[in-house]
Amino acid sequence: MQYEQEPYAKEFIEGMRKVARCDWCGRDTRTNRKGLCRHCNEVRKDLERVEKLTSDVAEPKTFMLDWRQRVARQKKEDCIVWGQMLRGILSGGVEPLALEHWFCMVSKRIARDSRMHYGTATMLGWTCTPAQRQMLAYFFWEIFGAQASHNRQSRAQWRVQCESLEERRDVHSASKTV
Ligand SMILES: [Zn+2]
Repeated sequence: MQYEQEPYAKEFIEGMRKVARCDWCGRDTRTNRKGLCRHCNEVRKDLERVEKLTSDVAEPKTFMLDWRQRVARQKKEDCIVWGQMLRGILSGGVEPLALEHWFCMVSKRIARDSRMHYGTATMLGWTCTPAQRQMLAYFFWEIFGAQASHNRQSRAQWRVQCESLEERRDVHSASKTV
C-alpha cells in the first residue's frame, strides 16, 4: 500500500533507459552517425578545427589560439559530464541529498533563494521511494541539462578564465619562493 505508486516510477525509469541518446550529453534528441546530437556535434567540430590549427606547425601559437583550444576542450568535457550525470541517475539510486540539491538549484534560479529547500533531504527520503527520487532527478536533469547546453560557451569561458588566474597565481607564488 505504502509504495503503490512505485511500479509506475520504476517503469518510467526503465523506459528512459531504453531511449536512444546522445553519446556525450545524454539528451534524447536526434543523433548523427557518430552518435552525437546537433549541439554536441557542433562542439566536436569546433574542437577538431581548433586542434587542427594548434597542431599546424606554420600556425603561430598565439594566446588567442590557446584560449580557444582550452574553451573548446572545456565545452566537450561539460557535454560529457552532463551525460555521465544522467547515466548515474538512470543506473543507480538517487540519494535524498542529491534530490535536495536539485530543489535548491530550482529555488535559487526561480525564487533567488538557494536555502528555501535546504535541509529537506530527510523528508524527501521519507516521502519519495527510490524510484520516485530517480524520476524527479531525471526531470530536473532534463531542465538543467537543456539550460546547460544554452550557456555552455559562457560557462566554459568563465572556467578557463578561472583556471588561467589560478595558474598565474601559482606561477607568481612559485617565483616568490624561489
Ligand atoms: Zn549531445
